[in-house]
Amino acid sequence: MKIHEFQAKQLFQQFNVPVPRGQVAATAEEAKKIAQDLGGKVVVKAQIHAGGRGKGGGVKLANSPDEAAKVASQIIGMQLITHQTGPQGQKVQRVLIEEQMPIERELYFAILLDNAIGMPILMASAEGGMDIEAVAANTPEKIIRIPVDPATGYQPYQGRQIAFGLGLRGDLLRSAVQLFGALYDLYVSKDCSLVEVNPLVVTTDGRLLPLDAKVTFDDNADFRHKDLVELRDKDEEDPLEVQAHEMGILNYIKLDGNIGCVVNGAGLAMATMDSIKLAGGEPANFLDIGTVNDSERVVNALKIITADPAVKVVLFNIFGGMARVDVIAQGIIDAQKQFNIDVPVVARLAGTNVDEGEALLAAAKVNVIRAKDLGEAAKLAVQAAK
Ligand code: GDP
Ligand code: MN
Repeated sequence: MKIHEFQAKQLFQQFNVPVPRGQVAATAEEAKKIAQDLGGKVVVKAQIHAGGRGKGGGVKLANSPDEAAKVASQIIGMQLITHQTGPQGQKVQRVLIEEQMPIERELYFAILLDNAIGMPILMASAEGGMDIEAVAANTPEKIIRIPVDPATGYQPYQGRQIAFGLGLRGDLLRSAVQLFGALYDLYVSKDCSLVEVNPLVVTTDGRLLPLDAKVTFDDNADFRHKDLVELRDKDEEDPLEVQAHEMGILNYIKLDGNIGCVVNGAGLAMATMDSIKLAGGEPANFLDIGTVNDSERVVNALKIITADPAVKVVLFNIFGGMARVDVIAQGIIDAQKQFNIDVPVVARLAGTNVDEGEALLAAAKVNVIRAKDLGEAAKLAVQAAK
């Protein structure tokens, strides 16, 4: 789950990380009032989950409360397009009004999971404020990476190593060591998958503080962070993904193709998407119904997939281990009874109770194109989508 910059900064404060003074506004009047309270000179920042807002026109300086109101009225309601929103952009509902910071240097700092080594890493660069992907691609030597062993946690010497690498000395170095530690504390205790500060600024009056803040939580830990649920902003998420989440479907991610997939198991879902690509098609989604013997789950998955107008065919790839193929087949039959599925359905069914499943489908006389293996299923689905 992603959250907004203003929410991330509130979290930062809970962990004793200093942030610029500011407040969120939903109208121009509120923006003006906040700007007055902050002394007039402010930054107006669009609150959407995507990055790259500055380049897209979503971050603007204002030098008086009236100007803050004017800029806020331009930004609120705009369809902000950045390299992370896709071409349709994202509608801005709120702006963060913050005191302007006198910037001397813009740095980059992040904590994220390095899947290859199975540890969190601290990542930093003196080339902050800009697209870190470009820095990583063109000048990888300018990025400092330090893995943190989760058993020992963050060590101050690691912070000093980074601070030195960033050219910070004296009081700034001490602030940096403390700040990195506080952010590591946040990363671990809130089960984050990313804490990113770009830019982390050094001000002309010698302070070190985050100007931007991005925090992403690992959804697998939702159950132990009930307090974070209220930070969710469904306006920022795909409506079908939200619905799938509420229906308890393990994992649904909408993609750009036209072949809808219903699969049990994440690995099998990956293999299914690969096979579709190999056969010359494009998957419309990633969907994992999980290991459940619940035909209702299959009905819900079909509801979600067929609600996407791009879908031209549905491909079932089921390997029954602990899940039973007859229960899945019953779900396909129930769905056909409950609503009209007006696209062809291709199924590759194998494993536990496959004969019982086949018998159910035959008896119910539902129209399902059968495939003996995944390769054939992918080919048939690609043909049917044409
Ligand atoms: P992003 O484009 O979505 O990553 O938004 P950021 O919060 O990183 O803001 C983009 C850029 O706006 C920063 O890199 C800064 O250069 C600039 N900016 C943001 N806040 C201030 C501020 O208080 N003072 C000044 N001078 N520039 C700011
Ligand atoms: Mn930024």
